[in-house]
Amino acid sequence: MMEFVVATNLEEAVSAVAAGAVPLAGGTDLMVGVNSGDRPESVVGLRRVEELREISRSRIGSGARWRVIEKEGPRALAQAARTVGSPQIRNAGTLGGNVGTASPAGDGLPFLAAVDASIELTSASGTRTIRWDEYFTGVKETARRPDEIITAVVFPDDLPERQEFAKIGVRNAMVIATVACVVTRRDDGTTTVALASVAPTPIRVPEAEEMAGTVTGPNDPGLDEFGRLVAAGVSPITDHRSTEEYRRHGAGVLARRLLARCLAA
Ligand SMILES: Cc1cc2nc3c(=O)[nH]c(=O)nc-3n(C[C@H](O)[C@H](O)[C@H](O)COP(=O)(O)OP(=O)(O)OC[C@H]3O[C@@H](n4cnc5c(N)ncnc54)[C@H](O)[C@@H]3O)c2cc1C
Repeated sequence: MMEFVVATNLEEAVSAVAAGAVPLAGGTDLMVGVNSGDRPESVVGLRRVEELREISRSRIGSGARWRVIEKEGPRALAQAARTVGSPQIRNAGTLGGNVGTASPAGDGLPFLAAVDASIELTSASGTRTIRWDEYFTGVKETARRPDEIITAVVFPDDLPERQEFAKIGVRNAMVIATVACVVTRRDDGTTTVALASVAPTPIRVPEAEEMAGTVTGPNDPGLDEFGRLVAAGVSPITDHRSTEEYRRHGAGVLARRLLARCLAA
Protein backbone atom coordinates (compact mmCIF):
# COMPACT_ATOMS: atom_id res chain seq x y z
CA MET A 1 0.00 0.00 0.00
CA MET A 2 1.29 3.44 -0.93
CA GLU A 3 0.72 5.96 1.85
CA PHE A 4 -0.54 9.31 0.51
CA VAL A 5 -0.51 12.59 2.42
CA VAL A 6 -1.68 15.93 1.10
CA ALA A 7 0.39 18.95 2.11
CA THR A 8 -1.48 22.23 2.38
CA ASN A 9 1.57 24.40 2.93
CA LEU A 10 5.31 24.27 2.36
CA GLU A 11 6.12 23.39 5.95
CA GLU A 12 3.97 20.27 5.78
CA ALA A 13 5.53 19.32 2.44
CA VAL A 14 9.05 19.75 3.82
CA SER A 15 8.33 17.63 6.92
CA ALA A 16 6.75 14.91 4.78
CA VAL A 17 9.83 14.61 2.53
CA ALA A 18 12.08 14.75 5.62
CA ALA A 19 10.16 11.67 6.81
CA GLY A 20 10.82 9.91 3.48
CA ALA A 21 7.78 10.79 1.33
CA VAL A 22 8.29 11.26 -2.42
CA PRO A 23 6.91 14.57 -3.78
CA LEU A 24 3.99 14.34 -6.21
CA ALA A 25 3.04 17.43 -8.25
CA GLY A 26 0.94 16.76 -11.37
CA GLY A 27 1.85 13.07 -11.34
CA THR A 28 2.31 12.94 -15.12
CA ASP A 29 5.79 11.43 -14.71
CA LEU A 30 5.56 9.86 -11.26
CA MET A 31 2.32 7.96 -11.89
CA VAL A 32 3.74 6.45 -15.09
CA GLY A 33 6.37 4.85 -12.86
CA VAL A 34 3.82 3.80 -10.25
CA ASN A 35 1.69 2.17 -12.95
CA SER A 36 4.67 0.14 -14.06
CA GLY A 37 5.30 -1.12 -10.53
CA ASP A 38 7.75 1.47 -9.21
CA ARG A 39 5.75 2.33 -6.06
CA PRO A 40 7.23 4.58 -3.39
CA GLU A 41 6.13 3.64 0.14
CA SER A 42 4.91 7.12 0.82
CA VAL A 43 3.96 10.10 -1.37
CA VAL A 44 3.20 13.74 -0.51
CA GLY A 45 0.82 15.61 -2.80
CA LEU A 46 1.89 19.22 -3.45
CA ARG A 47 -1.03 20.54 -5.48
CA ARG A 48 -2.60 22.38 -2.56
CA VAL A 49 0.61 24.18 -1.63
CA GLU A 50 -0.21 27.62 -2.94
CA GLU A 51 3.19 29.20 -2.41
CA LEU A 52 4.66 26.73 -4.93
CA ARG A 53 2.44 28.10 -7.69
CA GLU A 54 3.55 31.73 -7.54
CA ILE A 55 4.96 33.30 -10.70
CA SER A 56 6.85 36.58 -10.92
CA ARG A 57 9.18 38.15 -13.48
CA SER A 58 12.26 36.33 -12.25
CA ARG A 59 10.86 33.36 -10.36
CA ILE A 60 8.48 30.55 -11.25
CA GLY A 61 7.18 28.38 -8.43
CA SER A 62 7.81 24.68 -9.00
CA GLY A 63 4.07 23.98 -8.84
CA ALA A 64 3.25 26.30 -11.77
CA ARG A 65 1.49 24.20 -14.37
CA TRP A 66 2.37 24.27 -18.07
CA ARG A 67 -1.12 25.62 -18.79
CA VAL A 68 -0.28 28.75 -16.79
CA ILE A 69 3.32 29.02 -17.99
CA GLU A 70 2.17 29.03 -21.61
CA LYS A 71 0.36 32.29 -20.86
CA GLU A 72 2.51 33.87 -18.16
CA GLY A 73 6.03 32.51 -18.62
CA PRO A 74 8.95 34.18 -20.39
CA ARG A 75 8.61 33.89 -24.18
CA ALA A 76 10.75 30.83 -24.96
CA LEU A 77 9.54 28.93 -21.87
CA ALA A 78 5.94 29.70 -22.87
CA GLN A 79 6.71 28.38 -26.35
CA ALA A 80 8.12 25.20 -24.77
CA ALA A 81 5.07 24.88 -22.51
CA ARG A 82 2.74 24.86 -25.53
CA THR A 83 4.51 21.76 -26.88
CA VAL A 84 4.33 19.65 -23.70
CA GLY A 85 2.08 16.61 -24.10
CA SER A 86 -1.63 17.30 -24.56
CA PRO A 87 -3.99 19.84 -22.92
CA GLN A 88 -4.65 17.28 -20.15
CA ILE A 89 -0.93 16.84 -19.48
CA ARG A 90 -0.35 20.61 -19.51
CA ASN A 91 -3.22 21.07 -17.11
CA ALA A 92 -1.62 18.77 -14.54
CA GLY A 93 2.13 18.78 -15.29
CA THR A 94 4.42 21.35 -13.69
CA LEU A 95 7.78 22.94 -14.33
CA GLY A 96 8.97 21.54 -10.99
CA GLY A 97 8.04 18.03 -12.08
CA ASN A 98 10.00 18.49 -15.32
CA VAL A 99 13.01 19.66 -13.30
CA GLY A 100 12.43 16.86 -10.76
CA THR A 101 12.40 14.12 -13.39
CA ALA A 102 15.39 15.67 -15.19
CA SER A 103 14.78 13.65 -18.34
CA PRO A 104 17.32 14.48 -21.06
CA ALA A 105 14.22 15.29 -23.16
CA GLY A 106 12.51 17.66 -20.68
CA ASP A 107 11.14 20.52 -22.77
CA GLY A 108 11.47 23.08 -19.98
CA LEU A 109 15.16 22.45 -19.48
CA PRO A 110 16.83 24.17 -22.48
CA PHE A 111 15.33 27.49 -21.39
CA LEU A 112 16.80 27.06 -17.90
CA ALA A 113 20.21 26.41 -19.42
CA ALA A 114 19.93 29.24 -21.96
CA VAL A 115 19.27 31.92 -19.32
CA ASP A 116 21.49 30.48 -16.56
CA ALA A 117 18.58 29.76 -14.25
CA SER A 118 18.99 28.39 -10.75
CA ILE A 119 16.96 25.82 -8.90
CA GLU A 120 15.72 26.72 -5.40
CA LEU A 121 15.60 23.76 -3.00
CA THR A 122 14.06 23.83 0.46
CA SER A 123 14.49 21.35 3.30
CA ALA A 124 14.02 21.40 7.05
CA SER A 125 17.52 22.87 7.34
CA GLY A 126 16.84 25.84 5.03
CA THR A 127 16.87 26.93 1.40
CA ARG A 128 19.73 26.71 -1.10
CA THR A 129 19.84 27.85 -4.70
CA ILE A 130 22.02 26.05 -7.20
CA ARG A 131 22.81 26.81 -10.83
CA TRP A 132 21.25 24.60 -13.51
CA ASP A 133 24.61 23.13 -14.53
CA GLU A 134 25.30 21.97 -10.98
CA TYR A 135 21.76 20.70 -10.50
CA PHE A 136 21.49 18.42 -13.58
CA THR A 137 24.16 15.76 -13.09
CA GLY A 138 23.14 12.94 -15.47
CA VAL A 139 20.24 11.10 -17.10
CA LYS A 140 17.40 11.62 -14.59
CA GLU A 141 20.03 12.45 -11.97
CA THR A 142 20.21 15.69 -10.04
CA ALA A 143 21.89 17.31 -7.07
CA ARG A 144 18.57 17.39 -5.17
CA ARG A 145 18.64 15.48 -1.88
CA PRO A 146 15.60 13.30 -1.13
CA ASP A 147 14.69 15.56 1.81
CA GLU A 148 14.47 18.64 -0.42
CA ILE A 149 11.48 20.17 -2.17
CA ILE A 150 12.11 22.07 -5.39
CA THR A 151 10.45 25.35 -4.49
CA ALA A 152 11.16 27.44 -7.59
CA VAL A 153 13.17 28.11 -10.69
CA VAL A 154 14.90 31.48 -10.47
CA PHE A 155 15.97 33.59 -13.46
CA PRO A 156 18.21 36.63 -13.78
CA ASP A 157 16.18 39.87 -13.72
CA ASP A 158 17.35 40.94 -17.17
CA LEU A 159 16.25 38.12 -19.45
CA PRO A 160 17.49 38.40 -23.06
CA GLU A 161 15.34 40.62 -25.29
CA ARG A 162 14.92 37.88 -27.90
CA GLN A 163 14.39 34.20 -27.18
CA GLU A 164 13.06 31.36 -29.29
CA PHE A 165 12.26 27.69 -28.56
CA ALA A 166 11.49 24.86 -30.97
CA LYS A 167 11.66 21.10 -30.90
CA ILE A 168 11.81 18.30 -33.43
CA GLY A 169 9.79 15.15 -32.91
CA VAL A 170 8.30 12.39 -35.01
CA ARG A 171 5.01 14.30 -35.26
CA ASN A 172 3.62 17.69 -34.28
CA ALA A 173 1.67 16.89 -31.11
CA MET A 174 2.09 14.70 -28.00
CA VAL A 175 5.70 13.97 -28.71
CA ILE A 176 8.86 13.64 -26.70
CA ALA A 177 11.54 15.73 -28.40
CA THR A 178 14.18 14.22 -30.64
CA VAL A 179 15.95 17.57 -30.26
CA ALA A 180 14.78 20.67 -28.37
CA CYS A 181 16.54 24.01 -28.55
CA VAL A 182 16.45 27.55 -27.17
CA VAL A 183 18.42 30.43 -28.67
CA THR A 184 18.55 33.79 -26.91
CA ARG A 185 19.95 37.06 -28.19
CA ARG A 186 20.59 40.36 -26.43
CA ASP A 187 20.72 43.75 -28.13
CA ASP A 188 24.50 43.82 -27.54
CA GLY A 189 24.89 40.63 -29.61
CA THR A 190 25.36 38.22 -26.68
CA THR A 191 23.90 34.90 -27.77
CA THR A 192 23.17 31.66 -25.95
CA VAL A 193 22.18 28.31 -27.38
CA ALA A 194 20.94 25.45 -25.20
CA LEU A 195 19.62 22.04 -26.18
CA ALA A 196 17.86 18.99 -24.75
CA SER A 197 17.70 15.38 -25.98
CA VAL A 198 21.24 15.55 -27.35
CA ALA A 199 23.23 14.77 -24.18
CA PRO A 200 22.56 13.24 -20.73
CA THR A 201 21.68 16.70 -19.38
CA PRO A 202 20.64 19.99 -20.99
CA ILE A 203 23.71 21.59 -22.55
CA ARG A 204 25.04 24.87 -23.90
CA VAL A 205 27.42 25.13 -26.87
CA PRO A 206 29.97 27.86 -25.98
CA GLU A 207 31.91 27.69 -29.28
CA ALA A 208 28.74 28.46 -31.23
CA GLU A 209 27.71 31.18 -28.77
CA GLU A 210 31.04 32.97 -29.18
CA MET A 211 30.88 32.82 -32.94
CA ALA A 212 27.24 34.00 -33.03
CA GLY A 213 28.27 37.52 -32.01
CA THR A 214 29.58 38.01 -35.58
CA VAL A 215 26.24 37.00 -37.15
CA THR A 216 24.17 40.11 -37.64
CA GLY A 217 21.07 39.38 -39.71
CA PRO A 218 18.64 36.61 -40.65
CA ASN A 219 20.36 36.13 -44.04
CA ASP A 220 23.95 36.33 -42.77
CA PRO A 221 26.02 33.46 -44.28
CA GLY A 222 27.58 33.04 -40.81
CA LEU A 223 24.38 31.25 -39.77
CA ASP A 224 25.67 28.13 -41.54
CA GLU A 225 28.84 28.11 -39.46
CA PHE A 226 26.75 28.65 -36.30
CA GLY A 227 24.63 25.60 -37.16
CA ARG A 228 27.76 23.57 -37.91
CA LEU A 229 29.31 24.46 -34.55
CA VAL A 230 26.12 23.50 -32.71
CA ALA A 231 25.96 20.14 -34.53
CA ALA A 232 29.62 19.53 -33.65
CA GLY A 233 29.11 20.55 -30.03
CA VAL A 234 26.35 18.10 -29.02
CA SER A 235 26.76 14.50 -27.78
CA PRO A 236 23.63 12.60 -28.82
CA ILE A 237 22.98 8.88 -28.68
CA THR A 238 21.05 6.51 -30.93
CA ASP A 239 17.90 5.14 -29.29
CA HIS A 240 14.35 4.11 -30.19
CA ARG A 241 13.44 7.72 -31.03
CA SER A 242 16.28 8.67 -33.33
CA THR A 243 19.80 8.05 -34.53
CA GLU A 244 22.80 9.97 -33.27
CA GLU A 245 23.36 11.37 -36.78
CA TYR A 246 19.79 12.66 -37.14
CA ARG A 247 19.87 14.32 -33.72
CA ARG A 248 23.21 15.98 -34.51
CA HIS A 249 21.92 17.24 -37.85
CA GLY A 250 18.62 18.35 -36.27
CA ALA A 251 20.45 20.27 -33.53
CA GLY A 252 22.37 22.30 -36.13
CA VAL A 253 19.29 23.00 -38.27
CA LEU A 254 17.12 23.97 -35.32
CA ALA A 255 19.71 26.26 -33.72
CA ARG A 256 20.42 28.00 -37.04
CA ARG A 257 16.70 28.56 -37.62
CA LEU A 258 16.13 29.94 -34.11
CA LEU A 259 19.07 32.35 -34.33
CA ALA A 260 17.71 33.58 -37.67
CA ARG A 261 14.31 34.12 -35.99
CA CYS A 262 15.92 36.09 -33.16
CA LEU A 263 17.77 38.25 -35.68
CA ALA A 264 14.63 38.88 -37.73
CA ALA A 265 12.61 39.94 -34.69
C1 LIG B 1 1.40 11.48 -22.25
C2 LIG B 1 2.57 12.28 -21.72
C3 LIG B 1 3.16 13.23 -22.56
C4 LIG B 1 4.25 13.98 -22.10
N1 LIG B 1 4.81 14.89 -22.95
C5 LIG B 1 5.87 15.62 -22.52
C6 LIG B 1 6.48 16.58 -23.39
O1 LIG B 1 6.06 16.81 -24.53
N2 LIG B 1 7.56 17.26 -22.92
C7 LIG B 1 8.06 17.07 -21.66
O2 LIG B 1 9.03 17.71 -21.27
N3 LIG B 1 7.49 16.17 -20.82
C8 LIG B 1 6.42 15.44 -21.22
N4 LIG B 1 5.85 14.52 -20.37
C9 LIG B 1 6.41 14.33 -19.03
C10 LIG B 1 5.74 15.17 -17.93
O3 LIG B 1 4.43 15.56 -18.28
C11 LIG B 1 6.54 16.44 -17.59
O4 LIG B 1 7.87 16.10 -17.25
C12 LIG B 1 5.90 17.25 -16.46
O5 LIG B 1 6.49 18.53 -16.41
C13 LIG B 1 6.03 16.56 -15.11
O6 LIG B 1 5.41 17.38 -14.15
P1 LIG B 1 4.50 16.76 -12.98
O7 LIG B 1 4.06 17.90 -12.16
O8 LIG B 1 3.42 15.90 -13.56
O9 LIG B 1 5.57 15.85 -12.23
P2 LIG B 1 5.34 14.61 -11.25
O10 LIG B 1 5.03 13.41 -12.05
O11 LIG B 1 4.43 14.95 -10.14
O12 LIG B 1 6.82 14.49 -10.65
C14 LIG B 1 7.92 14.18 -11.49
C15 LIG B 1 9.16 13.96 -10.63
O13 LIG B 1 9.56 15.16 -10.01
C16 LIG B 1 9.47 15.05 -8.58
N5 LIG B 1 8.90 16.30 -8.12
C17 LIG B 1 7.77 16.91 -8.58
N6 LIG B 1 7.60 18.09 -7.96
C18 LIG B 1 8.63 18.22 -7.10
C19 LIG B 1 9.02 19.23 -6.16
N7 LIG B 1 8.33 20.38 -6.01
N8 LIG B 1 10.13 19.02 -5.44
C20 LIG B 1 10.87 17.89 -5.58
N9 LIG B 1 10.57 16.92 -6.47
C21 LIG B 1 9.46 17.08 -7.21
C22 LIG B 1 8.61 13.84 -8.32
O14 LIG B 1 8.93 13.22 -7.09
C23 LIG B 1 8.94 12.95 -9.50
O15 LIG B 1 10.17 12.30 -9.29
C24 LIG B 1 4.75 13.77 -20.79
C25 LIG B 1 4.14 12.82 -19.94
C26 LIG B 1 3.05 12.09 -20.40
C27 LIG B 1 2.41 11.09 -19.48
